[in-house]
Amino acid sequence: MIETFALGDVVRMKKPHACGTDTWTVTRVGADVKLKCHGCGRVVMLDRLAFLKAAKQIIGKETESCRSSSQSES
Ligand SMILES: [Zn+2]
Repeated sequence: MIETFALGDVVRMKKPHACGTDTWTVTRVGADVKLKCHGCGRVVMLDRLAFLKAAKQIIGKETESCRSSSQSES
């Protein structure tokens, strides 16, 4: 179980998906959480609590938005 997460987090789940991959990216956060499988690209929705329970750990951040803007401002 994890305690918190954010949009774009890459999460390892306790159980692997049917395709054998256990890592997913959080693609939407709200009352429900939308996840995309890294192995097959399948998108699923879980309610927030179910997701927190099913997740094992956050292993990183998907960084597709870091190209467009630099982080020079601080
Ligand atoms: Zn999959």
